[in-house]
Amino acid sequence: MAAVQRLLRAAASGGSAMAAAAARRRMTSLATEQAPSAAAGFSFAAEERVRRRPMAERNVQWVFLGCPGVGKGTYASRLSRLLGVPHIATGDLVRDELASTGPLAAQLAEIVNQGKLVSDEIIFNLLSKRLKKGEDQGESGFILDGFPRTVKQAEILDGVTDIDMVVNLKLREDVLVEKCLGRRICGQCGKNFNLACIDVKGENGLPAIYMEPLLPPNNCMSKLITRADDTEEVVRNRLRIYNDMSQPVEGFYREQGKLLEFDLPGGIPESWPKLLQVLNLEDQEELKLAAA
Ligand code: ADP
Repeated sequence: MAAVQRLLRAAASGGSAMAAAAARRRMTSLATEQAPSAAAGFSFAAEERVRRRPMAERNVQWVFLGCPGVGKGTYASRLSRLLGVPHIATGDLVRDELASTGPLAAQLAEIVNQGKLVSDEIIFNLLSKRLKKGEDQGESGFILDGFPRTVKQAEILDGVTDIDMVVNLKLREDVLVEKCLGRRICGQCGKNFNLACIDVKGENGLPAIYMEPLLPPNNCMSKLITRADDTEEVVRNRLRIYNDMSQPVEGFYREQGKLLEFDLPGGIPESWPKLLQVLNLEDQEELKLAAA
């Protein structure tokens, strides 16, 4: 984890393409048990040397992909609680930075509120800071949500650590828009809700979908906030950007044989048990419930 966050930081400060190449060269040299080379202007301190640990010796390192509004955050956070690994959403890191009085806030607001992607440099810095904090608290493993979002980000991540599996959540586009527009966050407790009641017929080969709203309790009702980037215009722009920039990431992981496609059959009551089933985790949930 420490090496991952240091290398991501190196990628952010050294020019991401060059740093990715350097990270790759470094990982290759480690994998082949040779002495690490100081490649093209990059040298790495001895304590930064990292070996890819076999999966049996560490917690899961998963990525959640999917369009805005598909429910990456919902399912990734449930799985993170179940598996005892952190759920790291780069969108949350960006929003925390936006809410701060830091120097980046104004610059970020303009980008995010138009639905555009933030620069790799900023994302790698936020992510490596988050990983460092987690490392200090003894975290291991992760479920990433919202990262990587471009093939370049995926290549850099690939250069510094092994991703075990990538879950690609899928839902029809008209439902995604409705879900984004129905999204609300409680300004006090921070929980996410959704006021949209999705009830669309199956047509043109697309399946019918029913999703109940996820309504807040009474004490959150008066404190609900809508994300500034959840307006129809910005949501459609984010979907366009997803199709252009992020969909190729699916192909990147498909080629590696790591992509698990998951068509959401409905809301949480239908989708959660099915997801656990395809991930072979039903027993894990029973154990957890029994222990609760
Ligand atoms: P979504 O609901 O579209 O999946 P997120 O909460 O993941 O949104 O992200 C919100 C915004 O944060 C994005 O629209 C983008 O501006 C920025 N962002 C998040 N992750 C990344 C990333 N990996 N690369 C670039 N920008 C990002």
